[in-house]
Amino acid sequence: MKRTRLRGIIIITIAFLIVVLSYQWFGRVERGLEIYASPYIAEQKMLSDYNPHLAGTPGDTEVLVFEGEEPGGTLLVVGGAHGDEAAGPVTALIFAENAKVKQGRLIVIPFANRSGYTHTLPQEGHPSEYVIPTPRGDRIIKYGARLTNPVHQWPDPTVYVQQVDGQKLAGTEARNLNRAFPGSANGHLTSRVAYAIVELIKTENVDVAIDLHESSPEYPVNNAIVAHDRAMELAVFASLDLSFEGVDIGIEPSPSGLRGLSHREWGDNTDVYAFLLESANPAQGRLRGKTNAELVISGRDPMYVKSYERGRLYVRYPEHGVPLVERVARHTATIQALASSFSEFYPERRIFVENIPSYTELMASGLGNYLAPTAK
Ligand SMILES: [Zn+2]
Repeated sequence: MKRTRLRGIIIITIAFLIVVLSYQWFGRVERGLEIYASPYIAEQKMLSDYNPHLAGTPGDTEVLVFEGEEPGGTLLVVGGAHGDEAAGPVTALIFAENAKVKQGRLIVIPFANRSGYTHTLPQEGHPSEYVIPTPRGDRIIKYGARLTNPVHQWPDPTVYVQQVDGQKLAGTEARNLNRAFPGSANGHLTSRVAYAIVELIKTENVDVAIDLHESSPEYPVNNAIVAHDRAMELAVFASLDLSFEGVDIGIEPSPSGLRGLSHREWGDNTDVYAFLLESANPAQGRLRGKTNAELVISGRDPMYVKSYERGRLYVRYPEHGVPLVERVARHTATIQALASSFSEFYPERRIFVENIPSYTELMASGLGNYLAPTAK
């Protein structure tokens, strides 16, 4: 009898400890999603301001609004649609934490699919966070997953039938924000997020919207601007400007049959000039070896160097790899070049964002000089 009671007490104690430790572990989920907005921010909103059905859900996320000293056009920068593509949120954070808008408006969403930042992909060996050293301490940033957390959107359908034209995709793609546009107000979580972004574009009269992504180095579309049909001319001018700076960025037309993606649906469902940017992230690739936070930051993987030497890649992959700073510098310079080509076409709606490091400045001084350290 006594022994049974003792066993009971031990089991209850162990169960209690598991509950406490799990709570502490899951409590860390929010770490790495902090945003330290530049002092020039006008207003911080939430994405649910554009779709009330998102309020109180794990899909709600911060929207930072910067107003210029002079009126002009509106630029939207979206990072983190896919949580395992680090250059997106880091570029968005560089804008959010440094921007001073001289003319027009800037709206930044650093972590678009916030639910995707509460887990990592099973069996990929991805780290849960990575660290960027800054002169005032370390900045910790979350590494998430490509899809919405299944805990937040369950179950997946056997087949995901795409909203616009009934195209059939794998069931898991129901949790892919970049297959969910234009979305629906009270559909599943991913679809609500998509709907809110499209509503934001309409409500805020966004002129230029840029969705930041990365893909594996073996993917054919990389170091490129994917442009909606109406936005091709702006992309061509931006790409020319970038080539004068020594930054080589290609142009890809948004395929009209590829539905649910930002560059297609934002452009088809609103008046915005829609773009998607890609850079090469070996941490997502199938040829990579050891996968850890170091790979996310350094972008250095010997298998990719070999593949490049044998002519198997579409992007240049040198011995030193493709570091995060270079991928972010490409995105940052391309955003500025697109804003500038829009301003040349529409001088009355000029967009001019100051205080953002150029490609050369970022490459010379690193990411840490433009990010705040994580508060202790
Ligand atoms: Zn992506």
